[in-house]
Amino acid sequence: MSQNVENIKPSYPLFLDDDYQDSLARKRELYEESHSPEKVQEIFEWTTTEEYKELNFNRTALTINPAKACQPLGSVLCALGFEKTLPYVHGSQGCVAYFRTYFNRHFKEPIACVSDSMTEDAAVFGGQKNIYDGLENAKALYKPEMIAMSTTCMAEVIGDDLNAFIGNAKKEGYIAEDFPVPFAHTPSFAGSHTTGWDAMFEGIARYFTINNMDDKEVGSNGKINIVPGFETYLGNFRVMKRMMEDMDIDYTLLSDPTEVLDTPADGKYRMYDGGTTQDEVKDAPNAIDTLLLQPWQSLKTRKLIKGTWNQPASDIAIPMGLTGTDEFLMKVSELTGKPISESLEKERGRLVDMITDSHTWLHGKKFALWGDADFVLGMTRFLLELGAEPIHILCNHANKRWQKAVQEILDASPYGENCEIYRSKDLWHMRSLVFTNKPDFMIGNSYGKFIQRDTLAKGKEFEVPLIRIGFPIFDRHHMHRDTTLGYEGAMYIVRSLVNSVLERIDEETRIMGVTDYNYDLVR
Ligand code: SF4
Repeated sequence: MSQNVENIKPSYPLFLDDDYQDSLARKRELYEESHSPEKVQEIFEWTTTEEYKELNFNRTALTINPAKACQPLGSVLCALGFEKTLPYVHGSQGCVAYFRTYFNRHFKEPIACVSDSMTEDAAVFGGQKNIYDGLENAKALYKPEMIAMSTTCMAEVIGDDLNAFIGNAKKEGYIAEDFPVPFAHTPSFAGSHTTGWDAMFEGIARYFTINNMDDKEVGSNGKINIVPGFETYLGNFRVMKRMMEDMDIDYTLLSDPTEVLDTPADGKYRMYDGGTTQDEVKDAPNAIDTLLLQPWQSLKTRKLIKGTWNQPASDIAIPMGLTGTDEFLMKVSELTGKPISESLEKERGRLVDMITDSHTWLHGKKFALWGDADFVLGMTRFLLELGAEPIHILCNHANKRWQKAVQEILDASPYGENCEIYRSKDLWHMRSLVFTNKPDFMIGNSYGKFIQRDTLAKGKEFEVPLIRIGFPIFDRHHMHRDTTLGYEGAMYIVRSLVNSVLERIDEETRIMGVTDYNYDLVR
């Protein structure tokens, strides 16, 4: 083969070498029993039609390219946001390998998370023994100060009871009675990664507060709690801290994985770094209020805050875009009595200036959009503020009330009138949508690149470029450090959108002597 030690090539362009090409062609001819290229093309064309779209939308028993991940993945992220906390998944090892690699690929960081590796015997007799050994070993080996336990589908299918098993492990002396092991049942045949985050957060908050409410008094510590939800943009944690500090607000960020997911390369491995402390969680019910930055994805958490902490859990939308951020800051100001700082007012003005500068390019541009419920709602609102037109909105996991809320946002703007909202649908549905009613761009995670490739395969004029905003982003580097919330995040979004538009225009106008009379230096 053509690989040689003096000149090691990566798989691309290595597989374009003649010997690999010959080998692939032989394999196709001898073993694949493939259809002719003409037949493949015919079927491909059919999958781009209205007729196929109708069949596709009648599909009930199959998900293709799902626009979600599974519940325990969310619970692992939530656990990583607490100081010296080891995420522990009760269930099969393969699932946990998937969670770790998923986060590795997105954050480009090692992810500490253990599994108690249930196999066939545990699937038949239950996984209590795995929990006994798992807790004892995980504590001894990795020395956490908290173990946050969630479950995979296997443990849920056989009905393992975490409360009972953890209680028994403590009674039997596998782990100290007072060692914190909050837990959440996270069956992935329901919900999504966002449900798992919410369940784990509720589990941790419940563990530290439910039996200790007697000496708590709402407002007594003068703080505001901020619950980020399933947040994968590290810049969003940082911008929240900056905005609170700018306004001189005493606050607690409940679940903050910024340090552990962004450790410096200084020769020192940190299994744990930063994070919300146990004392901060215990003190959280004394705050003035708890603001949920992803309210549509924090249903269990809201119930606990209202029902147990007796706080209002004030109604806010995700602080994304201009109005979203305005409302958030005004709510913080109202709750604390502190004015919005001058520096934030200036920042707002800069955002308005940016929006005005880019308006001509974004006005009327059509977008398809998918992602988690709160992100999609916030992004829809911001697109409309920019004069852009969302035409397909897809969210795999959201309820009917969410759909109604997004519809109201669309109805309030002339730019929203041609938009359809799709719930419980996947990216194969989105593929049909962009073929039959073409947007100018798609906004979503890396999985949209397959849709972009397919649209290009039909012809350049059908191509729908992908703007990567969301989770996961595996095929571009360092975007998880960016910011999508607050005025700063809105600036990042405007920059991403408008430069994608300009890049596309350059691409369309660079043909020499044909379209390059519009290949302008100044846009
Ligand atoms: S869906 Fe269930 S089985 Fe699959 S990785 Fe997630 S927890 Fe494991």
